[in-house]
Parts: sequence; C-alpha cells; structure tokens
Amino acid sequence: MTDQVRVLVTGAGGFIGHHLTKYLVDRGYWVRGVDIKEPEYEATAAHEFKLLDLTKLENCIQATREIDHVYGLAANMGGIGFIETHKAEIVRDSSLMNLHSIEAARQNGVKRYFYTSSACIYPGFKQKTADVTPLKEEDAYPADAEDGYGWEKLYMERVCRHYTEDFGLDTRVVRFHNIFGPLGTYDGGREKSPAAICRKIALANDGDDIEVWGDGEQTRSYCYIDDCVEGIYRLMQSDHREPINLGQDRMISINELVDIVSKIAGKRIGKRYDTTKPQGVRGRNSDNTRLREVLKWEPQISLEEGLARTYHWIEAKVNQGRHSAVTV
Ligand code: NAD
Repeated sequence: MTDQVRVLVTGAGGFIGHHLTKYLVDRGYWVRGVDIKEPEYEATAAHEFKLLDLTKLENCIQATREIDHVYGLAANMGGIGFIETHKAEIVRDSSLMNLHSIEAARQNGVKRYFYTSSACIYPGFKQKTADVTPLKEEDAYPADAEDGYGWEKLYMERVCRHYTEDFGLDTRVVRFHNIFGPLGTYDGGREKSPAAICRKIALANDGDDIEVWGDGEQTRSYCYIDDCVEGIYRLMQSDHREPINLGQDRMISINELVDIVSKIAGKRIGKRYDTTKPQGVRGRNSDNTRLREVLKWEPQISLEEGLARTYHWIEAKVNQGRHSAVTV
C-alpha cells in the first residue's frame, strides 16, 4: 500500500488545470485529470485522464472516488466578451458542476477541497475608476458581483464555507486576478485581454493599428501562470480557510499592455478604439497584504517576462496557422 497522495484536478483540459496537473505530477502526486475535453495544445501529464461531464452528479462521484485532494478548476468561462453574453449558460453549468463536485467529494470522503473563485466577485461600486484602490478580501461585502459569472463564484465561496461548517470538509478558496501564459486560449471568443492583444500584435505588420476594446484606459493586474500554480499549491498546504486573493498587484491600463507587447514583438503598433465592445469594470487591482501574510510569498515573475513568454508562444501558434493555410 503506497501513501502517495491521490489528487483530482477538474478542468484539467483547460489552461490553469493543465499547468497545475504538470506541477503536481512533478511534485510526486498521483493525479487524475477530468474534463469534457482533452487539453488543446499539449498532452496531459496526468496519470489518468477521464472525459466526463461534471454537471452530472454520477460523473462527479466517479471522478472523486479514492481521491484525497480535489482541485476544482472546471468552469464554463471566458474573457469579458464571453461572460457578458452567456450568463445563463455560465451560471447553469458552473453551479451544477461545482455543487455536484463538492457533494461528491463529501460522499467519497475527500480530505481537502480547493475552489477557484475570481476577482469578479468584488463589487462593481468599488471599481468605478481607473485608479481604483486595490481590493482587499473583506471588500466582497456588501455584494455587487459581476453579473452572472461573479455571482456564481460568490455563491460557491459560501457553499464551501457551509460544507466546512456543517460537514467538516476542509476547503480552500482562491480569488484569481487575470491569469495568463502559454497554453491559454488565444482565439475563438473565450480568450482574455493579454492573449487577445498578443494574437492581434502577432498578426499585425510593423506600423499597423490593432483594435482595442473601450478607450484602453481601463486598468487591471495580470499574474503569470507559473506564479498562479505555485500560489495554488502553497494555499492548499496552508491552514487558511477564508477566500484569499491570488494575483499580481501591479496595475496597468490596456493601453500600457498593448505598448509592452508591441515592444516585445519589436513592432510599432497603433490603437483603434472600439467603445461599443464590452470592457468590464473600469479599474481592478489585487491587495496582496493577506497573501503575503498567509503564504509568506507573492508572485515573482514580472509582467514583461510573463508577456514575453506568452507572446512568443502565441506568435508561434499564429505562424503555424499561417503556414498551414498557405500549404493547404
Ligand atoms: P479554462 O476555460 O481554460 O478551463 C476550464 C475547464 O473546465 C475547460 O477545460 C472546460 O472544458 C472545463 N469544463 C467546462 N465545462 C465542463 C463540464 N461540464 N465538465 C467537465 N469539465 C468542464 O479556464 P481557466 O482559465 O483554466 O480557469 C480555471 C478556473 O479558474 C475556473 O474556475 C475559472 O473560473 C477560474 N478563474 C480563472 C481566471 C483566469 O484569469 N484564467 C480568473 C479568475 C478565475
């Protein structure tokens, strides 16, 4: 009998789940990955990978059997263009898969359950200006979450707390702030701003304009994927049961993001603003005080370094696409 810890990563076919699976396998965990689709750009590192629809309770029961720790990353989600136009689908699918996953974990005697929430739970009324005050964990209430996606996340945070209080299931809850990096969706409508901007610049010629959603003065902070998985792991090892931010606390505007990526690409890029496109809140940044206190750590990889790695990966994908289009 081995004492190797057995882990389930839900959403292991997705961006963060795929990276986390690799990280955990490298650290000696036995990992089962579950998703409704295979990872898109690279084979999974999981010891076992199951294609299951986690909106169904019976599939969640199967997924959590003989598992010690669950990392719940499955969600129906995307960038701002997707979450503003698919609210019913998002809340239906994500509520079903999250409720069924935590209940199945309880029934199967899982020891620890990790839930991935989002900065989208923070109230809109605290994010009305570009020079917004960084968001602290206690700012979540009184609640005014992002319509649809954010409310489902906030509700599930509370479900985790109730499962701990009433059933003794040990839970961890993280609020991610814009995670980006290689192997993330970069086209098709679900991509987030860093990936979309990298793709547009990779496709542009020196001197071209690219389309920017809004006036480009909206602000965000961005966290590189390697820091994200390190933070997830550290939080899972900690004894902190309250929701906690995980992100960078360097806030920049979308215009600045475009300028950084243009420099990485070595192209002069102009901006053409489309103010009819969804922009989300005006400003958002993470207050990392609690992260530093609890984890004795904070994200390490600079935005420039993370964007350079991401840009070069997306540029290679875009060039492959061009090449196959020419040779077909
Ligand atoms: P992602 O879309 O790449 O991964 C989610 C995965 O869930 C996908 O592979 C998808 O196929 C899978 N999934 C969807 N429906 C399913 C179903 N019915 N059954 C099984 N699997 C299903 O997203 P991500 O960026 O890797 O995000 C992971 C988690 O982190 C999500 O909960 C997301 O809401 C949260 N989050 C991400 C960010 C970010 O910036 N990427 C920010 C805040 C929160």
